[in-house]
Amino acid sequence: MSRNTVVLGAGMVGVSVAWHLARQGHSVTLVDRREPGRETSFGNAGIIQREAVRPYAFPRDLGTLLRVMPNREVDIRYRPTGMVSAAGPLLQYWLNSGPTRYRQIVPAWASLIMRCQEAHAPMIEASGAQELVRQGGWLELYRTRKALDERLVEARENHERYGVEFEELDAEALYAKEPHLAKGLVGAIHWTQPWMVADPGALVQAYARSFEAQGGHVMLASVEEVIQTGTGWRVVTSEGALEADQVVVAMGPWSRELLERLGVSVPLFVKRGYHMHYSAEGGAALNHWVMDAEKGFLLEPMRAGIRLTTGAELADLDSPPQYRQLAAAEKVARKLFPLGKRRDSQPWKGARPCMPDMKPVIGPAPGKEGLWMAIGHGHQGFTLGPVTGKLLAQMMDGETPDVDMTPFRADRF
Ligand SMILES: Cc1cc2nc3c(=O)[nH]c(=O)nc-3n(C[C@H](O)[C@H](O)[C@H](O)COP(=O)(O)OP(=O)(O)OC[C@H]3O[C@@H](n4cnc5c(N)ncnc54)[C@H](O)[C@@H]3O)c2cc1C
Repeated sequence: MSRNTVVLGAGMVGVSVAWHLARQGHSVTLVDRREPGRETSFGNAGIIQREAVRPYAFPRDLGTLLRVMPNREVDIRYRPTGMVSAAGPLLQYWLNSGPTRYRQIVPAWASLIMRCQEAHAPMIEASGAQELVRQGGWLELYRTRKALDERLVEARENHERYGVEFEELDAEALYAKEPHLAKGLVGAIHWTQPWMVADPGALVQAYARSFEAQGGHVMLASVEEVIQTGTGWRVVTSEGALEADQVVVAMGPWSRELLERLGVSVPLFVKRGYHMHYSAEGGAALNHWVMDAEKGFLLEPMRAGIRLTTGAELADLDSPPQYRQLAAAEKVARKLFPLGKRRDSQPWKGARPCMPDMKPVIGPAPGKEGLWMAIGHGHQGFTLGPVTGKLLAQMMDGETPDVDMTPFRADRF
C-alpha cells in the first residue's frame, strides 16, 4: 500500500484529509502557500451546518430572477464578465436546479451533511478546540409569514427524511432570545443541532496542529507544478520538490487551474462572498448566529466582533473586489441590529468553490493513478471537510467508505 502522500491546500478540506491520512498511518506532507485556514475556510460564517441537507440551488422562479436582474440585491450579485467566463457551468447549475434533477441530488448531498458532526467531533476533541465551538444552533429570521411558512414545509420534510431538528419561534419567542433585533420580524426557525465556530480559521489551525501532533508535516510553499513520474508523483514547490506515491488536490477555488494543467477537466466555478466585523452599539448583544433569510446575509457573534457575511457574487475568482454588495447588506443589517463601527480596515473577500451539480468531487482523478481530488464543497466546505477527509482516506486505503461515493466521482461530468 502507498503511504507517502502529499496533500495540496490547507483549508478545512485539505487539513481534514491530511489529518485522516496521518491517523491511518500515511506519511503526509500538507502544502500551502499560507498558514492553514487563511483563505475561504477563514472568512466564512463558521456554522457546521447539520441543517443544510439540501444544497444551495440556483433560483429558478421568475420572480427571483427578475428581482436579481438589476444587480442591486443583497443576496445575489453578478459581474457580467464572471457570468460569461462561467457560462457553461452556470447553465448546468441552472439545469441541475430543476425539480427532477435536484430531487436526485439531495439524498447524495444529505448523506454527507448527516455525518458532519460525527466527523468534526473527534477532530475537535483531538485538537482541544472545544472552546471555539458553540452548541445551541442558530436562527433563520423571517419578515413575512408566507416565506416562513414555505420554509417550515421544507423543514418538516427535512426532519422526517434526514433527522433535521428545529423549533418554530413566533415573534415573542424570537425577541425573548434576541431582544436587540429590530421589531417587525414575524418569527424564526431555530435550527437546534448545528455548531457554531467563533473563529473558523482558528479551528482549521487547531486541526492542523493536531495533524502535526500525529506526525504530519506542514510545508509553507507555493505549489508550482505536479508531475507524474514513472513511480509516482513529483510536486514542485517554491521551496523545492517533493516525491510522493499519492497526491491529493484540495486547493479549494484554485484547484481547477492546477488540475487543467494535469489534463483533468473539472467544471468548477466560484461564488464569491465578503465579510466585515463590527462592534455592537450601546451594549446591545447578539446571542445567536442569525440569518436574515429574506434579505440574504448573516450576522455572527464571532471572537473578532459581529461578523456580517454576504450572499453570492458571481464573478471571476481573481477579479478585483466589488464592495457594493457588502454595503447594501450592511445598510439592511444596521436596521436589523444596532451595529457600531467597522472593525477591519478592508472587507475580507473569499470564493466558494462550486460544482454545477452542487456536489463535491471526492475520489480518484480519472486516468491518473495516485492522484486524488477533494474539491468543490460550495456553500458548506467548512461543514464537510472532516467527513470528506474520512471518506477519502477510506477510499485511498482500499476500504469500503461509510457512504456510497458514486455521486461524488470525478468522471461524472
Ligand atoms: C461568505 C462565506 C460564508 C460561508 N459560510 C459557511 C458556513 O457557515 N459553513 C460552511 O460549511 N461553509 C461556509 N462557506 C463555504 C466554505 O467556507 C468553503 O466551502 C470552504 O472553506 C472551502 O474549503 P477548502 O479547503 O476547499 O478551500 P480553502 O479554504 O480556500 O483552502 C484552499 C487552500 O489552497 C491553498 N492554495 C491555493 N493555491 C495554492 C498554491 N498554488 N500553492 C499552495 N497553496 C495553494 C490556499 O492558500 C488555501 O489555503 C462560506 C463561504 C463564504 C465565502
